[in-house]
Amino acid sequence: MHHLLRERTGAADIVHNHCIIDRELEEEGDVLVLPPQEYGSVALAEAVTEKAAKSQVMHVRRHGLVFWATGYEECRDLVERLARRAVRRR
Ligand SMILES: [Zn+2]
Repeated sequence: MHHLLRERTGAADIVHNHCIIDRELEEEGDVLVLPPQEYGSVALAEAVTEKAAKSQVMHVRRHGLVFWATGYEECRDLVERLARRAVRRR
């Protein structure tokens, strides 16, 4: 997934975790949602890469989050922005 994403989007930085978020945070955080895909599969890599044209923050349901950016600081900001929203909601 990381390789394909980097190749197709020009992403310099990609963060992927296995944090599952709820629907409210998906909406609040303007997160693009993908249906579940098999872990480590080509289908997962292709689905994420295809959606990456529309959003730099994605949630693969029942799997986790993917953030991508063309630079480290931008990618970190995307992660932090969503993390702040998650913390605020607790
Ligand atoms: Zn994963």
